[in-house]
Amino acid sequence: MRYAILADIHSNLAAFQAVLRDIEERGGAEELWCLGDIVGYGPDPGECIALLRQLPHLCVAGNHDWAAIGRVDISDFNPDAAQACRWTATQLTPQDVRYLESLPLTLSRDDFTIVHGSPREPIWEYVLSTQSAKANFGYFETMFCLIGHSHVPLVFEHIGETCLLDELATEVKLGENRLIINPGGVGQPRDGDPRAAYAIYDDRDKTIYHYRVTYDIEATQERMVRQGLPNFLVTRLSYGL
Ligand code: ZN
Repeated sequence: MRYAILADIHSNLAAFQAVLRDIEERGGAEELWCLGDIVGYGPDPGECIALLRQLPHLCVAGNHDWAAIGRVDISDFNPDAAQACRWTATQLTPQDVRYLESLPLTLSRDDFTIVHGSPREPIWEYVLSTQSAKANFGYFETMFCLIGHSHVPLVFEHIGETCLLDELATEVKLGENRLIINPGGVGQPRDGDPRAAYAIYDDRDKTIYHYRVTYDIEATQERMVRQGLPNFLVTRLSYGL
């Protein structure tokens, strides 16, 4: 079986569609694992939820999914994110809201635990350092954990008492050591590469493949401007920051 791993779509339909096309060109995937933040920031929240729901998938809740349905207080968000969140809430149908409400915080599938932020704090924690990764290995039971939230593709490996970080891994062979893996963000990458990021897990060769995909960034930006979304959120897509 092949599984597509997507995090942080963030209402960016053009990026989401480009990733789905790339998956097809690479031989397809039987199931999509979505690591949360389907909505927030971008111009197409309803369309992204609808497209995801057409596909065989699993999905956990992210902080922006919860913010859009009023489950978390957006006073913790920066002003641009809060503005985008208020706009997102006005775009959702009752069915969209029910779907977002139904998303769990944690899922497990095969050897994987699936969360948005971290196994320790599924909604809010960013795992960007070996220190936070090391602490989080104690908070899940499976061999591997998939996370999103930082929009940065990363692999943390637990070896004995230490934890190693690999920022450039493009193929991750699953073996004896426990791993925390972030596929990067689809809809708002933040590692300096504006291309959409995602991964495919192939259980036949027990390997996770990281991919980058170009998409029509300007099309998303034009739609954001038309919807009156904050300028900073529009321009950052050009730089992947
Ligand atoms: Zn996010």
